Amino acid sequence: MADNSGKTCAICGDWHLHSEYEYGNRVNRSYCLKCNREERTAYANGGVIAAQSYREQKRAAWKK
Ligand SMILES: [Zn+2]
Repeated sequence: MADNSGKTCAICGDWHLHSEYEYGNRVNRSYCLKCNREERTAYANGGVIAAQSYREQKRAAWKK
């Protein structure tokens, strides 16, 4: 039961286990692993503005 804890991702709004927020030598990040990967892809393609608009679009889908 100890591994049954988690939180909501700040980008996609889905609930994940804490293990999904441990990457890049850091723990307890704000985004899940999948969102971080997609944000990095957006950044690689379009820089800071593309990464920001990716986050805003994903948030707008669930945050009202
Ligand atoms: Zn996410």
